[in-house]
Amino acid sequence: MIPYGHQDISLEDIQAVENVLKSEFLTQGPVVPQFERALAEYCTAAYGIATNSATSALHIACLALDLGPGDWLWTSPNTFVASANCGLYCGAKIDFVDIDSRTYNLSVEKLTEKLERSAKDGTLPKIVIPVHFAGQSCDMAEINALSKKYGFKIIEDASHAIGAKYCGEPVGNCKFSDITVFSFHPVKIITTGEGGIATTNSQELAEKMRRLRSHGITRDPELMSKRPDGQWYYQQIDLGFNYRMTDIQAALGLSQMQRLEEMVSQRGKIAKAYNVALSKLPIILPYCDPENLSSNHLYVIKVDPNKRSQIFNELRDDGVGVNVHYIPVHRQPYYQQFGFKSVDYPVSEKYYSQVISLPIYSSLKVEDLNYVVEHLTKSVLKKVDEF
Ligand SMILES: *Cc1c(COP(=O)(O)O)cnc(C)c1O
Repeated sequence: MIPYGHQDISLEDIQAVENVLKSEFLTQGPVVPQFERALAEYCTAAYGIATNSATSALHIACLALDLGPGDWLWTSPNTFVASANCGLYCGAKIDFVDIDSRTYNLSVEKLTEKLERSAKDGTLPKIVIPVHFAGQSCDMAEINALSKKYGFKIIEDASHAIGAKYCGEPVGNCKFSDITVFSFHPVKIITTGEGGIATTNSQELAEKMRRLRSHGITRDPELMSKRPDGQWYYQQIDLGFNYRMTDIQAALGLSQMQRLEEMVSQRGKIAKAYNVALSKLPIILPYCDPENLSSNHLYVIKVDPNKRSQIFNELRDDGVGVNVHYIPVHRQPYYQQFGFKSVDYPVSEKYYSQVISLPIYSSLKVEDLNYVVEHLTKSVLKKVDEF
């Protein structure tokens, strides 16, 4: 099976992990802060807080921004469930903003309308989480302008978008947001096995997230309720978690970062090759923003909704590990209990009926790409042989 996504591991990556295994520290050693600094520097953000997943980074990001019961968190329905679950973990209420029919990102137009309505009935969000779907940045300047007008905080879910650019600058610089979160799950651009990171320019948010990542414990006397009992002393001042990344994971991440730009460029070449090879087919190819560099985490095509299942099944039968990103989150049974109605998200609903994600990853071989093109073409152009 040619998967839709796959890690790209080099001998150097293996050596870096081996070095940690032979060292004094497996977790909480010197490599985690090294990885955090390298990634924050790459993004030109002031701070990086590494975690054991993007899901935990989203959770502590919400907590650091004081999300709690009675608050609203808004995000896109076209995302992985984690972008919304982080709000539920904090006891907040979730709402979704329908997507843009061209970029498949949260629609700024719909967001504007929804904010206007919510300002009237007192249901404005505390946090909005734009998701940079498939590695293409949302329009952050516009979302930021709305946040100033309506007073909400912004967490960018950039799980798909490490190595992407917005207005010529790296996604993750938090120029238009409070916090940005990346994922290092093996299907993402670079991997640490499991892992994530939050970047921010706020020292206060960084310190809060660092504490929440490790049980809410501090060793800083300034933050303690009394003078330390001795050198061994620490205090738990928040209810935190064990969301720490290990040195083993950080070493893999740090090593993977050396090839980040190469990997993003390779994904760009694969996307271009698909664009050319599939241009004559009666399908809709992904929108390519000429201004903002995508990291091409996903390559999503739209087909005739009446043929989607057939094309999908035929490709799977032929050994092409196609997938669908995403089932709109409001459709999940767990979210149905909150009363979401499909009619409120017409663009996401239509989108969901049409899409197929084709294999894209930096180690994809040219013969595999040609195999995908050949079998997709056969399936899309297949004649109907019975009614
Ligand atoms: C992968 C992903 C996550 C979760 O990442 P983990 O590291 O697996 O927790 C969150 N949001 C989006 C958009 C993702 O694609």
